[in-house]
Amino acid sequence: MEAHLHFIKDRLFGLHVDRPLIISGPCSAESEEQVVATARALAALNRVHVLRAGIWKPRTRPSAFEGMGRPALAWLRVAQEASGLPTAVEVANSRHVEQALAAGISILWIGARTTANPFAVQEIADALKGTDVPVLVKNPVNPDLELWIGALERVNKAGITQLGAIHRGFSTFERTRYRNKPNWEIPIELKRRVPGLPIICDPSHICGSTELIQAVSQTALDLNFDGLMIEAHIRPAEALSDAKQQLTPHQLDTLLGQLVFRHESIDDVLTRTKLVELREKIDKIDRDLLEILADRMSVAEDIGYYKKDNKITILQSDRWDEIVHNRMKVGLEKNLTAEFVHKLFEIIHKESIHHQSRVMNVAASVEETPTLDELTQEHQGESVRGKDQQQ
Ligand code: PEP
Ligand code: MN
Repeated sequence: MEAHLHFIKDRLFGLHVDRPLIISGPCSAESEEQVVATARALAALNRVHVLRAGIWKPRTRPSAFEGMGRPALAWLRVAQEASGLPTAVEVANSRHVEQALAAGISILWIGARTTANPFAVQEIADALKGTDVPVLVKNPVNPDLELWIGALERVNKAGITQLGAIHRGFSTFERTRYRNKPNWEIPIELKRRVPGLPIICDPSHICGSTELIQAVSQTALDLNFDGLMIEAHIRPAEALSDAKQQLTPHQLDTLLGQLVFRHESIDDVLTRTKLVELREKIDKIDRDLLEILADRMSVAEDIGYYKKDNKITILQSDRWDEIVHNRMKVGLEKNLTAEFVHKLFEIIHKESIHHQSRVMNVAASVEETPTLDELTQEHQGESVRGKDQQQ
C-alpha cells in the first residue's frame, strides 16, 4: 500500500545543519550533574547537533532502572542552556508529550516498543495535535515495515510535518552479533517507499556494545542515511541503563573523526545497497551452516551413547574412508574442489569425535578411552589401536 506522508524534506527538523545530523547523549538522564557534564563535553566536540536523553525508560524487566521521570526535564533545560544544544527525549504516552513540550524539549522521539503498539502511537499523535514539534519514529522492535510506516502516518496525520525515522535494528530470538539485527533491507525499502524522509541510524541500540558502532555507522553513512544517534555518557561504566554500549564524549569524537563521509551518486548507493543485501545473505547462510553443524554434532553424540552402551570404540576407519570419498564426489558435482571438501570433512570429523569422546568418557573412568590427539593421528592414517577402531 502506498505510504501517505507529507513532510518537510529539505531541512532536518528545522535545524540548519549539514547532513549527517549527529544526535548524542546518555541513554538515560540520571542526575543534573551527569546530563550537564555530558552535554558540555559533547558540545565542545563541535560535531554534535542535538542532545538526547531518556527520561521515561521502557525496560524489558520491571526491576530495571525506569528513568528519573519529570524532574529530569528540568536538568535537560539546564543542559540545553549550558551547551547550546537542542534536546530530544523519548515519549511513550500523552502525559510524556505534554510534560516534554511544557519543558521546552526541542525534538520528541517514539521508541521501538511504542511504535509496535498502534494504540500508544495514536494516543501520542492525538496529544501532538496543534503543535509543530519535530518527531522521530523509531522502527518497531519486530521487523515490520508496515507498522513503522503506520506509526509515521499517525503522527503525520496529527499535523506533524517535521518528521523523521530512526533505524535501531530488530530483535530476534536467535543470538546474533548484534543486540538488534540491522536488517538493512527494511530502512532501504522505507527510503524507496517514502522518498526524502530523513532517516537516522541508531548504531548504539543495533550493536548493544561499543565494538561494532564504528562499522555500523559507516554502513549507515554509505547507505546515505541522514544522520546518526549515538549514545554517549560522561562515565559509561556508571550508567544506569545500557552501560555496555555508551561511549565517552572523547570516544565519540574519535569515532566520528574516523568515519568517511562520502558524497555519492545514486549509482554508488545502489551498488552498496546490493552489496549489503548480498552480505546479509552470506550471514544467513553462515548461520544456517552453523545450525546444521550443531545438528550433526548432536547426532554424533547420540552415536556416542550407542557406542558406549555397546562398548564399541569411537573410530571406524572404513566408515571414515567411505565418508571422505563420498563427500568429495558429491562436492565435485557441486563445483567444490576435492581438496576443500577433504579438509572440511577432516575438521568436521575431528569435532564429531571430540563430541563423541566427551559423551563416552562421562563416568567411564575404568574404560581406557583414546585421547583426542591419538584419535586425530588415526585420521591421518597412523593407526593407534589397530584395524578394529570404529567410528
Ligand atoms: C533508547 O533510545 O534509549 C531506547 C530505549 O531505544 P529503543 O526504543 O530503540 O529501544
Ligand atoms: Mn539506550
